[in-house]
Amino acid sequence: MRNPIVVGNWKMNMSIDAGLKLASSMIPGLDVIQGVEKVICPPFVGLGSIGDMLSGTSVSVGAQNMHYEEDGAFTGEISPAMLSPICKFVIVGHSERRQLFGETDDLVNQKVLAARKVGMKPIVCVGEQLNDRNTDKAKEVVGEQLINGLGNSVTEPILVAYEPVWAIGTGMAATVEIVEDMMSYLRGVIRSNCGSRESEEAQLLYGGSVNPANIADFMALADVDGALVGGASLDPKAFNTIVNIAADAAK
Ligand code: PEP
Repeated sequence: MRNPIVVGNWKMNMSIDAGLKLASSMIPGLDVIQGVEKVICPPFVGLGSIGDMLSGTSVSVGAQNMHYEEDGAFTGEISPAMLSPICKFVIVGHSERRQLFGETDDLVNQKVLAARKVGMKPIVCVGEQLNDRNTDKAKEVVGEQLINGLGNSVTEPILVAYEPVWAIGTGMAATVEIVEDMMSYLRGVIRSNCGSRESEEAQLLYGGSVNPANIADFMALADVDGALVGGASLDPKAFNTIVNIAADAAK
């Protein structure tokens, strides 16, 4: 039985003060929800203070990105060792990083390896563009991102967020059929490349316009173990409902 997980990606939203306010309004409600791992990923500047606030609760903090080097002349970057005392998780290869900042599968793989080296759990994001789907290339594109992102590293834990780019922030979530088909394909890719046990234990998250009204349908799928939530993670009530529904689905 895989543990379900819901991750909130705040993206580049919330000042330090606003983030603290948002976190303090969310934490008491999230803390009491059992049977699901809860993670919030504020911007870098909020990690320290929100991490302190989460200490002693059942909610974890994650980073939205990081560099793969340990330290050095990388102006503006944050290293794995700087994050690991605060963050249990780190999102790598989000489509916004790939599209807007030129991140490649190779870079994603270096980040995956670097995160594991310091004991953080990387959440590897993969997802096709609308054109890939319309030309029947979605599985090819996403499968390649996954294999390249994981690389030769079969070390667990494997956490993958399937986020079709066309579904992110658009209010147009993927259909249950699309998610079911892709998740079962991705579990198969992990089985072939990493092994049966790794595939069975891999946690596969769906992301792309997840909200309180659609989370139950995704969580009902055998290969979906949770969600990566953007916009709705900034709304305490909506995020709490999503986490509660994910916990209920796992019962
Ligand atoms: C995301 O940014 O990872 C995401 C899924 O965003 P949204 O939920 O807003 O589509």
